[in-house]
Amino acid sequence: MNIFGSNVFNDAVMRARLPKATYNNLKKTIDEGRELDPNIAEIVASAMKDWALEKGATHYTHWFQPMTGLTAEKHDAFISPTSDGKVLMEFSGKELNQGESDASSFPNGGIRATFEARGYTVWDCTSPAFIREDKNGNVTLTIPTAFYSYNGNSLDKKTPLLRSLEALSKQAVRVLRLFGNTTCTRVIANVGPEQEYFLIDKKFFEARMDLVLTGRTLFGATPPKGQEMDDHYYGSIKERISAFMKELNEELWKLGISAKTQHKEAAPAQFEIAPVYNTANIATDHNQLIMETLKKVANRHDLVCLLHEKPFAGVNGSGKHNNWSLSTNDGQNLLDPGKTPHENAQFLTFLCAVIKAVDEYAELLRISAANPGNDHRLGAHEAPPAIISIFLGDQLTDILKQIKDGGTVCAKECGTLKVGVSTLPAIPKDNTDRNRTSPFAFTGNKFEFRMVPSSASVACPNMILNTIVAESLSQIADRLEKATDFQSELHLLLKELLEKHDRIIFNGNNYSEEWVAEAKRRGLLNIESMVEALPHYISAKSVALFTKHSVLNEQELHSRYEILLEQYSKIIKIEARTMVAMANRLIFPAASKYLGELAASVRDLKAAVPAADTFAQEEVIKEIADTLRNFKEKTTALEKALATAISRKDLYDVYQNSLFYRQSVFPLMEELRFYGDKLETLVSSEHWPLPTYTEILFLI
Ligand code: ADP
Ligand code: MG
Repeated sequence: MNIFGSNVFNDAVMRARLPKATYNNLKKTIDEGRELDPNIAEIVASAMKDWALEKGATHYTHWFQPMTGLTAEKHDAFISPTSDGKVLMEFSGKELNQGESDASSFPNGGIRATFEARGYTVWDCTSPAFIREDKNGNVTLTIPTAFYSYNGNSLDKKTPLLRSLEALSKQAVRVLRLFGNTTCTRVIANVGPEQEYFLIDKKFFEARMDLVLTGRTLFGATPPKGQEMDDHYYGSIKERISAFMKELNEELWKLGISAKTQHKEAAPAQFEIAPVYNTANIATDHNQLIMETLKKVANRHDLVCLLHEKPFAGVNGSGKHNNWSLSTNDGQNLLDPGKTPHENAQFLTFLCAVIKAVDEYAELLRISAANPGNDHRLGAHEAPPAIISIFLGDQLTDILKQIKDGGTVCAKECGTLKVGVSTLPAIPKDNTDRNRTSPFAFTGNKFEFRMVPSSASVACPNMILNTIVAESLSQIADRLEKATDFQSELHLLLKELLEKHDRIIFNGNNYSEEWVAEAKRRGLLNIESMVEALPHYISAKSVALFTKHSVLNEQELHSRYEILLEQYSKIIKIEARTMVAMANRLIFPAASKYLGELAASVRDLKAAVPAADTFAQEEVIKEIADTLRNFKEKTTALEKALATAISRKDLYDVYQNSLFYRQSVFPLMEELRFYGDKLETLVSSEHWPLPTYTEILFLI
């Protein structure tokens, strides 16, 4: 209790330190989304500076989330030299409000003409400023900001998220008004991201070029033991790890991050941390801080935290479960089935809005879960398949079926609303067994989007979720606002929505082969890879959606499309080049050396004892030589493909380029790996140049 939030310029600190009028003014902006009054920045900046100086801060930084998916910051000292050779500690309203930075070295996807390199960071007062300390005593006041270009285009992940929250709130409030709610002025998306990660010993990390350069192992034979014993999940936590977790929690609590749940995950050396949910914007900032703090604290314990989606082949990779719900500023959770028929009708309307959104824009949700790492997981029997569907559980599905099949439109009956069923039975939170295979599961009062990549920001998934649901709600509101008989129209509308969109509901096993076939019959998309998903970002349908709700304009969409494709190509290129380097400089030399020693031993044996039996050595020599030949051939093929990706003119186009990496480079990497891993099982461990999976995963 003493340390929680101690490094945050939070509500309590603001109330204590700001003049009442300023505090109320700022609070209105934060709670009601009103425009920030520029006159208060000076007063807030001064209070923030005094607070930060008391905490030992020397610097401040505008902290932002460029399209790299990481966070960025540039530190400035508070000092301002005076004429008598001393300094004052200063921080103005202008410095709080806006910063300028060179945007040219951040991905911008052609948004920024080269002559106009200016980028601006602008204070996001809805996410509290905080103090960051490091072990060396550096203390920095950190101000969450949005980042955009000279002409106002977003260059970051935060801006569209904030815009999507506005759009969602606007449309949801319209629908609530139709249900007679006159008090709610804002609807908020809440997000609780569960973060999975691996911890490995630093000495093994440093001994592997692939982990250092790409965050995943590009070679590595399957260890004799994997996760088949189910002995890691929820297992007792070793002291070395619990010491790490203790420090991690303390660091997070100081930052006002409510780290709550921690446990071992399914794979050896894999863990999970989950905070209590928060508003989507703050939850996104906090998730970035969680990822950063995981890495920082791991380093202090001679550990390395791997956030990659698939650090090790053959054992589970990591994801991020994005729990999402909608609440009102008058205290309702809109995804909580209510106790009265009235509340239930409203709940069913919001539920159907989500069903419609997910069915209509499944390809956008698929994009929001796409990164090169997740291409290894989705559909690989450890994570949901690449097919988007919704799990609702039998009880809700049955209720929806009744609405869909329900006879004629019902009018008001005994003063209650009738939407197919006059009252819903109270739906208990754990109304069905958990379905761990669904990509998008209703879990009692929220949805759990389970496809999100472990290393990615949750800004994009939530931006897309908010926008597509805003669109559903706006269509629902358009229709109901015109209705003369609200209840009949509502009933008709829900019935129609379910007729059209209930194909997206699936309560069975999403990992099964049958589901793939069934989904195809239902006409659901199955987009296997990131590259195949991305063109949907710039389709006419997508441009219409994002521009209608002012979340992303056409130029911003195109820039994101290009940035993501470029990132894909670059990542595969780096991985492939790392493989070539490891193949030529580590694995090939090790295998040849061992081969030479075996050959020498045959020669020596024969020289000493002409009748000696060298059958075993010769067999091994043959097998290694054979594998090594294939290994060399694949290395050469991969090198050639890499050269082609750069030289061929038709591959200058970003899409064609990434498609080439996906279709021609990536499969060669898999083939090369196959022979590399085979060599690992043949070459003596004394000669093998890399720490093995057994060492990395089990010696922790
Ligand atoms: P699981 O049992 O699914 O692994 P966890 O306890 O690990 O669940 O994480 C559940 C997450 O969902 C937490 O971050 C929690 O705060 C969040 N959550 C709970 N209720 C809501 C809600 N109404 N809206 C959004 N997130 C929620
Ligand atoms: Mg969990």
